[in-house]
Amino acid sequence: MGAVTSWKKSLLVEGCPVCGEKETSRGFMNFDRLHNLPGSFPVRECSGCSSLYLKEAPPDPAAYYPEGEYYSTYESNTSELRAKRKLIELFYSGNRSLGFAYLLFYPLKGRVQGIPDYVPGGRVLDIGCGFGLLLDLLKEAGWETHGIDVSARAIELVRRKGHNGVSGELRAGRFDAGYFDAVIMSHLIEHLRDPREYLALAREMLKPGGQLIVLAPNARSLGARLFGRAWAPIETPRHLFVPSPKALVKMLRAAGFRAESLKYTGSNWSQSLDYLLNGRYTPGSVFYRPFVSIPLEALAQALNLLRLGDSFQIKARKGPSDAR
Ligand SMILES: [Zn+2]
Repeated sequence: MGAVTSWKKSLLVEGCPVCGEKETSRGFMNFDRLHNLPGSFPVRECSGCSSLYLKEAPPDPAAYYPEGEYYSTYESNTSELRAKRKLIELFYSGNRSLGFAYLLFYPLKGRVQGIPDYVPGGRVLDIGCGFGLLLDLLKEAGWETHGIDVSARAIELVRRKGHNGVSGELRAGRFDAGYFDAVIMSHLIEHLRDPREYLALAREMLKPGGQLIVLAPNARSLGARLFGRAWAPIETPRHLFVPSPKALVKMLRAAGFRAESLKYTGSNWSQSLDYLLNGRYTPGSVFYRPFVSIPLEALAQALNLLRLGDSFQIKARKGPSDAR
């Protein structure tokens, strides 16, 4: 019994992963609603910064990432992909023209996420790049593209598409200091046991003034408050924490970055309503049918404008080392 107790203890998370506060304001048990894998996990809300986090990490985190399934969604939905490609061409590449299309599509500019400000001949690294969807778009826009991901299968495909790819943890990348103009962490940080280590490495790899883009689920969203444990972006147990935007800005500042912009991007209401009413992911659920999901998407965009959206994006710059 003693051995079991100490093993259990090593999985306990001491304090909020975002701000370090030990006090919590509420808590509940949650489970894997997406893949229906076994186990139940205690979730806590930090009383210091309102971030949500797993009080007890899964003993074998890799077991909760079914290979293939997890990334497959990134390859679907080609019409949306085509639309995004057009928007990036218009707003985030070198051949930007101030024509009619630019004005016509300007209201949609915010729909494109995770795209760094254009740097002619710039080098970009996507950490946790999956099958390289974002890298494809960036390559077309003229970037030198690099991706790193723990999935060897994903990196194989990334290389075949003509990107530079490394499989493994960020350390395995062995990138030169000051090499990149931009580093992207799109929905990665919430999966990390040591987000500060990743931020420090990202900072080292960036040129002075280089741009870091972080996307994460929003613990302060209306969805998080309304749906509670059924809120889809809690993603138990793959998300070790869900930050509040303010707390993540602080964390970035402590890691030597200057936050430039914060915008709200997410919409997971179809999935959250499915979880709330069906308990777990139910593919045929009415909430995914267009006559429900399209109005929900419109609602999500309104919530994003009210800063209550399900996710957010921070664009930050590497600051001078004395600003840490
Ligand atoms: Zn906190």
